[in-house]
Amino acid sequence: KLILGIESSCDETGIALYHTERGLLAHTLHSQIALHNEYGGVVPELASRDHVRHALPLIRSALQKAGCALSDIDAIAYTQGPGLSGALLVGSSIACALAYTLDVPTIGVHHLEGHLLSPLLSRPAPEFPFVALLVSGGHTQLMRVDGVGHYTLLGESVDDAAGEAFDKSAKLLGLDYPGGALLSKLAQRGTPGRFKLPRPMLHSGNLDFSFSGLKTAVLTLVNQQIDIPHPNPDGTTSHSTKPASGQVAGYLPEGEGANESLREFPTPEQTRADIAHAAQEAIVDVLVNKALAALKQTGLNQLVVAGGVGANQLLRSRLNASVGKHDGNVFYPELEFCTDNGAMIAFAGAMRLQQQVAQRDYRFNVKPRWDLREMNYAD
Ligand code: ATP
Ligand code: MG
Ligand code: FE
Repeated sequence: KLILGIESSCDETGIALYHTERGLLAHTLHSQIALHNEYGGVVPELASRDHVRHALPLIRSALQKAGCALSDIDAIAYTQGPGLSGALLVGSSIACALAYTLDVPTIGVHHLEGHLLSPLLSRPAPEFPFVALLVSGGHTQLMRVDGVGHYTLLGESVDDAAGEAFDKSAKLLGLDYPGGALLSKLAQRGTPGRFKLPRPMLHSGNLDFSFSGLKTAVLTLVNQQIDIPHPNPDGTTSHSTKPASGQVAGYLPEGEGANESLREFPTPEQTRADIAHAAQEAIVDVLVNKALAALKQTGLNQLVVAGGVGANQLLRSRLNASVGKHDGNVFYPELEFCTDNGAMIAFAGAMRLQQQVAQRDYRFNVKPRWDLREMNYAD
């Protein structure tokens, strides 16, 4: 069976062709990052219009890459929710119109189920049951996964998602949106240990997360430590560095009589990197600790990581080290399938197709808000 997958829940138009025996045949993607860049976030109306522009050309090029014709398609999977309603409507209307003309069934896929199952596209693939750490731009959840459609929520963020924490911290450091990967790059030049940011709920005794306090802590540091541009009366701009001496102790010459003028303060650029380093450490530390706790609580030894933050290299190396120490294994999607893509939707559609009655009702209803637990099969 050949499944066409269409993802359009947010700011990526993703298309893929997945064959139930031959695997992933082709996938194409258009990211709208550049489009939304100047607004510092996704503008829903612009997103919808851009999906309209790109969906059909991407479908054509996916078919071409796979060497398939439209008539080879046996079913069409599309992201039904959650996401931006206008953006979802574009993907679902294209999916249903196409399915109607081809006389094939449609499968409305839950976007998070797509993320959750995406590591199964890699080899070696994890086997059920496993613990999933879903860390995306909008969600941070730990789940026990016993099979397709058998999900138990173990814990989740009570406020911001991990990706959001990356993005908001990045924004405060002057990086473009979405700043997760950029912040991680900046952090590489950071000084370990110069700043320590809070790790809320690290010892909460449950598997929930909280990340909203982090952006406030980052904001406070930025205000304290980084120069702030001041407009001068003559129209020029000057910068003042504001090193709080207690916080830059590591940089001060030691001992009596250290000459005040010889004190070297880190440059604002270095300070930005140091704050980025501290922010990434704080987020990763909490994620790793809670993931370990989830493995312990469930008694399982396989951890699956999914969602955009799963592309983070520090998170990957820390998880590998600490889960490995407990004789466990960690599974990730390919880097390109961590953030939104069509392959995960086509794949989730294929899994659902095996278990679900084919739907030939081409009325579509998108679900901008949709709890993954509604996807569970009755026991
Ligand atoms: P959701 O799936 O919850 O609706 P989303 O689809 O917007 O949200 P994804 O596409 O899975 O989320 O992931 C995007 C997020 O991943 C952004 O917040 C981005 O900053 C973050 N991200 C991507 N790469 C990295 C990285 N290397 N390090 C940290 N964060 C990253
Ligand atoms: Mg995105
Ligand atoms: Fe997503």
